[in-house]
Amino acid sequence: MPLLLGILLYSCNPETEVQSSVSADDKFDAFKESFIEALWAANPDWATYVGYYKYADVLTIPNEEAKQKQMEFIQQMRDSVALFPPETLSPNNQTDLKMIINYLDKTDWELNVFKLDEWNPASYNVGGSINRLLISDYAPLDDRLRDMMKKMENIPAYYEAAQANIKQPSLEYLGLAQQQNQGARGIFEGKIVDSLEQSGLTDDEKTLFKERLDSSKKAIGQYLDFLTMYQKQNHDKEDGFRDFRIGKELFSKKFEFDIVSEYTAEEMYNKALAHKADLHQKMIKIAHEIWEKHMGNTPKPEDELKMVHELILKVSQRHVKREDFIKSIRGQIPELTAFVKEKDLLYLDPTKPLEVRPTPEYMRGFAGASISSPGPYDKNAPTYYNVTPLDHYTENDAESYLREYNHYVLQILNIHEAIPGHYAQLVYANKAPSLIKSTLGNGAMIEGWAVYTELMMLEEGYGNHEPEMWLMYHKWNLRVTCNTIIDYGIHVLGWDKEKVMDVLLNEAFQEKAEADGKWRRATVSQVQLCSYFSGFKEIYEFRENLKEQQGASFQLKDFHEQFLSYGSAPVKYVKELMNE
Ligand code: ZN
Ligand code: ZN
Repeated sequence: MPLLLGILLYSCNPETEVQSSVSADDKFDAFKESFIEALWAANPDWATYVGYYKYADVLTIPNEEAKQKQMEFIQQMRDSVALFPPETLSPNNQTDLKMIINYLDKTDWELNVFKLDEWNPASYNVGGSINRLLISDYAPLDDRLRDMMKKMENIPAYYEAAQANIKQPSLEYLGLAQQQNQGARGIFEGKIVDSLEQSGLTDDEKTLFKERLDSSKKAIGQYLDFLTMYQKQNHDKEDGFRDFRIGKELFSKKFEFDIVSEYTAEEMYNKALAHKADLHQKMIKIAHEIWEKHMGNTPKPEDELKMVHELILKVSQRHVKREDFIKSIRGQIPELTAFVKEKDLLYLDPTKPLEVRPTPEYMRGFAGASISSPGPYDKNAPTYYNVTPLDHYTENDAESYLREYNHYVLQILNIHEAIPGHYAQLVYANKAPSLIKSTLGNGAMIEGWAVYTELMMLEEGYGNHEPEMWLMYHKWNLRVTCNTIIDYGIHVLGWDKEKVMDVLLNEAFQEKAEADGKWRRATVSQVQLCSYFSGFKEIYEFRENLKEQQGASFQLKDFHEQFLSYGSAPVKYVKELMNE
């Protein structure tokens, strides 16, 4: 198969017949193109999600045949990558090669060992991909409706296969599947029907479309019935549901594939514990220093963590007005840019401005801020900093939200999301364009960089070393630290909700609503919560080591620019390249 692939690739280009004149990098670039194309063919929904619409009308039925095809894809690609000795490739391609191999190993493991498709009923949901065709404007409405129609043809078979795959679900994933598929059913009723009426489809097409809408709704309904029935029949059976906790062996392996760290999951957990203790000591010290300034004669609680908590609540009262929320975020971006320039921390490309906008309605489901980056197939689209306005909040909810994102935290958030966090990293990643990295990009590196910049900016003097700023920073950093601690605690050490709530409420000073949400998230995900702290810790340690080695010649700006120049590759790979 790899040979055949080679012939297909090169036969249209006579120049490449003289093998020796083609560099290894050129060959590898051609291979990467064929890899991506095959990846999209094998994963049509993923392709549509990143803005590649060639397979927009395809819905893969998740049956045994589909799994066989996935395995064939993996085998073919493994044979192909074996033809490229890493040392013959450029640094950019070396990291791409490693990322492809990691993706193949990970997918193999997911299909044959982890088998989430057998115990996570929420893996099956057609709502998102149908909705995407409805709201994206990649083609005129009529064409998009025809793509949807083609796709809907397979929906009944899709859910039949889903039912057949479910062996022993976890109760938590089953609940999630019920909730999400109820939402999915709604997509076949609302806007889609109006769009059909307004379209230029023929009457026959419209009739067929409506039939498929009905059979889709029916298929989802039957799947929901199946889930309800499963729950009823198994709720008191001992082996009816598997534990959502995946245990040490699976967690460690998933950590290796997803984080790609120099450290094991257990080592990272221990680092997070030590980091938490260190943060607590720093917060206690600050609290003693500024207690009176903020609390006057109020007696200090004897329990020092309680003292810290009370002070945090007080300091959080300094926040912007709800109507000024977006405006003040917009105003901070130029300040951050000026600071980065003044301190010479990183070159920021002035031709790539960042636009702060209210989060579009269709993206609003959750509060907060996010960065919308142009996908790999839409590079010239602008980058947006989405901020959800607080208009629809009740007075109480707005107040609680504003205290959470108070005067200090709001600035840290802007560092994280925008400058020099996610947004700046993205501009650098696009300078070394790699479809592999924008597709298989490493979440721990991406999040780790944003978390790293928060500390780096404060160390360089952003916020004038105000103790209140440091106090709130430490609280903010406790959040990602405890994400790692509870993820490992729950899945590997078997922690229950009570233990987790104790950590989040009393040691990370979170509100109950946030802690509840975090517990829930940890029961329907694994390892993802570790990515923020893991990436942060590795970047920071790496920087400190380099500083020590290089002494006076160490330049922060050079470190940042070189670090970012490899794109969104795992920190471990970037380290290897920078150490060469
Ligand atoms: Zn207030
Ligand atoms: Zn982030």
